[in-house]
Amino acid sequence: MSRKIFCFIMGLALVCLGTLVDLESGEVKGPKIYISVDMEGIGAIVSSAQLGPKGFEYERGRKLMTAEVNAAIDGCLAAGAEEIVVSDSHGNAQNLIPDEIYEKALLIRSFPRSLLQMEGIDDTFDGVIFIGYHPKEGTPNANLAHTIWGGKIHEIKINGMPVSESVFNAAVAGHFGVPVILVAGDQNVAKEALKTFGTVETVVTKESLGVYSAKSRHPNLICQEIKEKSKKAVERIKEFMPYIVKPPIRMELTFKHVYDAEAFSYLPWVKRLSGKTILVETESIIDINRFLTALFSINNR
Ligand SMILES: [Zn+2]
Repeated sequence: MSRKIFCFIMGLALVCLGTLVDLESGEVKGPKIYISVDMEGIGAIVSSAQLGPKGFEYERGRKLMTAEVNAAIDGCLAAGAEEIVVSDSHGNAQNLIPDEIYEKALLIRSFPRSLLQMEGIDDTFDGVIFIGYHPKEGTPNANLAHTIWGGKIHEIKINGMPVSESVFNAAVAGHFGVPVILVAGDQNVAKEALKTFGTVETVVTKESLGVYSAKSRHPNLICQEIKEKSKKAVERIKEFMPYIVKPPIRMELTFKHVYDAEAFSYLPWVKRLSGKTILVETESIIDINRFLTALFSINNR
């Protein structure tokens, strides 16, 4: 049997196990995983007290967040992942504690950066994991719900559908052909992921009771489930499909205040649909991501 045929047969066998083989070189490679991490959907985090440096429980919040990410890394590695890139994607993007993150992962920190919560994603990745994700602005009984910038943005619709950060970021990954394989957040986030992405692993980290309240399991038990589900997701990585939004892309962005829609309507390629809503039309979800990144970055200097 020639080396090439042998590699091909081995490749097919290993693909079934979630391991990827370069058919040219015959090199066996584990999957490459991208983990985007927000904070509002982390178990036991419920209010601004845990979300930023001014909160009395922020240091505790950082530890809870770091533990959930490590659980995901652990699960991915147990299933044979080769490379893991973690993107700290909340607030100032310097929440994860760098020397407590498992050594095998690379960590993307701080803003500004052109792809915001998905900085670093490209077509070399095999799967995306969302940890600590939260529901979109306006969701009833949803702990810490907002969409990208709670103080400014009321709603973002992509091709007519209101989107959360997880759905929007899934479309960004989908642009590169990369599927979402696991989503962790409250019950609303998990429900939306199953409805929108179809085949996806989910972890319900807490049950939202209201905008600033939730019922949460012990963090150790949440981490245990994240580890198990991440392992399972990487093992069955070939079963997931990328979430692709077909161009042209039409973003309707409704601000909370008329002032912002007015300011953006001065741009020649932005249409104003109503007092608070603008329309941006492009051929690529990446353009929309960059637009939102610019908008977000103005506030984050
Ligand atoms: Zn967020």
